[in-house]
Amino acid sequence: MDIKEILNSLHTKIKSLPHQGEQATYIPELLTVDADRFGVYVANLDLTGIGVGDYEQAFSIQSIAKVLSVSLAYQLCGESIWSRVGVEPSGTAFNSLLQLEADNGIPRNPFINSGAMVICDILITALDDPKEDFLTFVKTIANNPTLSYSTQIAESEKEIGYRNIALCNLIKSFDNLNNEPDEVLDFYFNLCSLEMSCEAVAKLFLYLANNGTCPISGTDVLTLSQSKRINALMQTCGFYDESGEFSFKVGLPGKSGVGGGIVAIHPDQYAIVVWSPRLNAKGNSYKGMLFLEEFTSLTEQSIF
Ligand code: GLU
Repeated sequence: MDIKEILNSLHTKIKSLPHQGEQATYIPELLTVDADRFGVYVANLDLTGIGVGDYEQAFSIQSIAKVLSVSLAYQLCGESIWSRVGVEPSGTAFNSLLQLEADNGIPRNPFINSGAMVICDILITALDDPKEDFLTFVKTIANNPTLSYSTQIAESEKEIGYRNIALCNLIKSFDNLNNEPDEVLDFYFNLCSLEMSCEAVAKLFLYLANNGTCPISGTDVLTLSQSKRINALMQTCGFYDESGEFSFKVGLPGKSGVGGGIVAIHPDQYAIVVWSPRLNAKGNSYKGMLFLEEFTSLTEQSIF
């Protein structure tokens, strides 16, 4: 079977399986999305690509954006960022206050909420107009001027984001934020509200399959070594406390978001994005995980 046939048959098969899990309820605006949406896009390094289902429909990429924010911080500030945030899997929920307290306000990695907040703080210090400059960074890599934040999603999360507000204040109390929690949270909620289609995310993330340079726009996002390290972090920390499971079953570096999207990278080959909004108990897309497991099995294209 060629890749197109595999994508089509897997899409048909997994879409028709009984539903499991539910959408994230703590961001009420996410519940306005049709939970039955299911899209997939594979973007290849030679700039060919194949989409199936709802691959052109924009969705809330949520934590997938944390790969982009840590990439920009790494580009701007180099290795110094690792004194403020760790590189270890958390093994606990992505919004754990207990672990942050035990770790004296140094988040385990840049993909859990507290870690992404520290990265936001680093970017606020480094950029003139953080929200605008970050968006320009993403648009430039993707060569896609239409990308934007969703004000509704950001406001919806901010309104009842009590746990994230608590996390941010706890980091501040440990002196690991240079800016005020309100400003950090505003940037964080906007970052998470970025909306993109499977196709747009897959093309954007090709820089991680291409040693740090995006083949779409020719933008040098990261050095070779930095790109290797971000992929390593995605492999070990990209799926909350289910990172081992994803690595075990799929065998690719990846990152999920509570909007139901998952991006996975095959270095030197492709980036694949799956979007299916219902989440399993760990907060990862239930059908997205199943799809990627079968995809790398059938194509025999994991990194291992
Ligand atoms: N905005 C979400 C939060 O802060 C992102 C979580 C996620 O996608 O993992 O909780």
